[in-house]
Amino acid sequence: MLQKLTRRDFNKLLLSGVAGSALGLFGKSNTAFASTKRVVVIGGGFGGAAAAKYLRKLDPSIAVTLVEPKAIFYTCPFSNWVLGGLKTMEDIAHTYTVLKNKYQINIVSDVVTSIDVTKGTVKLKSGNVLSYDRLVVSPGIDFKWDSIGGYSESVANSKMPHSWHAGPQTILLHKQLLGMRDGGNVFICPPANPFRCPPGPYERASLIAYYLKEHKPKSKIIIFDAKENFSKQELFKKGWERLYPGMIEWRSSAMGGKVSRVDAGAMTVTTEFGVEKGDVINVIPAQKAGKIAFDAGLTDATGWCPINPVSFESTIHPGIHVIGDASFAGAMPKSGFAASSQGKVAAAAIVRLFQGKVPAAPSLVNTCYSLLAPKYGISVAGVYKLTVEGIVEIKEAGGLTPINADDDQLREEALFAEGWYKNISLDTWG
Ligand SMILES: Cc1cc2nc3c(=O)[nH]c(=O)nc-3n(C[C@H](O)[C@H](O)[C@H](O)COP(=O)(O)OP(=O)(O)OC[C@H]3O[C@@H](n4cnc5c(N)ncnc54)[C@H](O)[C@@H]3O)c2cc1C
Repeated sequence: MLQKLTRRDFNKLLLSGVAGSALGLFGKSNTAFASTKRVVVIGGGFGGAAAAKYLRKLDPSIAVTLVEPKAIFYTCPFSNWVLGGLKTMEDIAHTYTVLKNKYQINIVSDVVTSIDVTKGTVKLKSGNVLSYDRLVVSPGIDFKWDSIGGYSESVANSKMPHSWHAGPQTILLHKQLLGMRDGGNVFICPPANPFRCPPGPYERASLIAYYLKEHKPKSKIIIFDAKENFSKQELFKKGWERLYPGMIEWRSSAMGGKVSRVDAGAMTVTTEFGVEKGDVINVIPAQKAGKIAFDAGLTDATGWCPINPVSFESTIHPGIHVIGDASFAGAMPKSGFAASSQGKVAAAAIVRLFQGKVPAAPSLVNTCYSLLAPKYGISVAGVYKLTVEGIVEIKEAGGLTPINADDDQLREEALFAEGWYKNISLDTWG
């Protein structure tokens, strides 16, 4: 749970000086971090790349180094479209060339293996060490491999891909779908909350159904869910009835959906209702913050990183800002859109902290589009504000696609989804 702020703490956070906000609440002096302006960013995904770019846009005197091992970043958003045959891997590939050349960000192709919070340094796999005045950590998620018996990284890389990191995992699941017989069973096994992209498994079911309906119409998809309900549930179910009648079956945890064990040799899943055999099995394990956040002691008992919601500065280690999926951001979902919003908030806060000013209270937004078929889109939008409870959703703002949306509206939502992807890609890596 997010550390609950008292009203007094909250007022202090918003109104007092830097010393008042960062020191009063979290105890440790920031003066060591305010003397120079070097920021190291760990991770070049939606959160990290946005933070790095916006730091340079907001204050070009800040030296920004972005550490990311991948030369090409494949986005999870639209990777379900690849599975449905609507996009290619090239369509979801991004490089760091513009960030390097146009925004003069020092791109280091490496992995951070440790963070020395006392010295203000990070150590890289290559053995090099980088010093920072402020650090941004955006490593995304890691998997709880032991959450399902019989599942492991090697099973994921060979027989039962999770495809919850885009790239080789997307290609593996796509190949399995292409190779499957007509009449085969595809199992999708989503985890309990919280996890990256709450509507993602259900968009995946939709777009795999789109492919199967066209090419292998006797096949079936069964969603073995560890939950009792899911994001945009009524909209998805209505769409499935219209587009793919009888093809997608959703089993909640109470209906025998919770998978306790898999057998990669036999291609089976075990639930409390018995053992079932699938042809393609997509296991999405339970999740936690990316490994480096754990190793650096930035996580709490929840497995995620508690943060000050004004600046996304860690409440455990001052001077380090944790954004994106790895952070615990109250009511905000773990999405690329949210990570990007948080990257910008952290960048603006860092600029103000370097100037000796109080970070401004942020306004945060998120929209998640899901595609059910090429001309059938749905969305959920949220606007968030800061209260004494942390980051909460403003109920009267945002909302869902209406359940009775007509075909024109659904077609428009599909177009908005394309527009959203183009814009956020340009905003992040372009
Ligand atoms: C199938 C699917 C569909 C999705 N669709 C959507 C969507 O439509 N809209 C949406 O908003 N979101 C969507 N998401 C969610 C979105 O992908 C994530 O929420 C987003 O990527 C989180 O950004 P991040 O910066 O926290 O992590 P990431 O984008 O995963 O970036 C983390 C980066 O950190 C790097 N890294 C990790 N550890 C280290 C280290 N030690 N040193 C250096 N680098 C490191 C990794 O290589 C990686 O590149 C989807 C997710 C999935 C799985």
